[in-house]
Amino acid sequence: MRLENKKALVTGASRGIGRAVAELFAVRGAEVWGLGTGEPPDLAGRIAAAGGKLHWISLDLSVLETVEETIKKALEESEGFDILVNNAGITRDNLAFRMDLEDFRSVLDINLTAAFLAARTLGRWMIKKRAGSIINMSSVVGLHGNGGQANYAASKAGLIGLTKSLAREWAPRNVRVNAVAPGFIDTGMTESLPAAVREKMLEQIPLKRLGKAQDVAETVLFLASDSSAYITGQVFAVDGGMFI
Ligand code: NAP
Repeated sequence: MRLENKKALVTGASRGIGRAVAELFAVRGAEVWGLGTGEPPDLAGRIAAAGGKLHWISLDLSVLETVEETIKKALEESEGFDILVNNAGITRDNLAFRMDLEDFRSVLDINLTAAFLAARTLGRWMIKKRAGSIINMSSVVGLHGNGGQANYAASKAGLIGLTKSLAREWAPRNVRVNAVAPGFIDTGMTESLPAAVREKMLEQIPLKRLGKAQDVAETVLFLASDSSAYITGQVFAVDGGMFI
């Protein structure tokens, strides 16, 4: 699958899954704009080695008032995006009775509301162009729920509703919107979990290993590429068979 002559915006591209997506896209021929709160990661060198280029947008997605304006600027600079990957996400886990409102809101803001704003900003352009692919990074937790993650599960379930609604609205203009629901992927987000929790998770994975960021990136690549031209409004679980 190639992404030649395509321009892609990937949020949360500094590490983990987003970083793997940005790198894979560039290797497959896309011009990539990564987004994160800090400085660009050092993958710029690896992308250059593959003949690609990484542009960087420094933006804190929790500051919702700035999201549309910043992405509009990137849109002008790039002269249009063909692909958006709404991947940035956070967790603020706690049992529901102990979860304070700020931790509920901040997860919803970054994981869901910022994704809506980014999709709407780029969606306008894609609709005019009659082409585009948007991929929202949900989670198996958004499909099945998880104790201690009411905020995170609500944001990820919300992304699925957003995906299906935008897919229905924009399909007549050939803009596709899909979601990916990873299971337990070995990244910074999961490395702090206690060994006992990781062991218990492994027992529930028929493929008997944690997922790699690359496993998720390959699915995102498929959904971004023309190989999935007739697919919209779907949720793809990448979970080693956790929920067969
Ligand atoms: P990660 O390693 O923690 O990386 C999170 C990314 O999101 C980073 O690039 C981070 O950028 C960015 N981000 C966080 N807050 C941001 C903010 N306020 N503004 C802009 N960017 C922000 O996470 P990951 O495991 O790769 O997860 C990526 C996505 O997959 C998330 O949406 C996550 O919910 C989802 N997911 C992960 C798993 C898993 O097992 N790992 C499972 C299911 C779903 P900075 O470096 O700038 O902070």
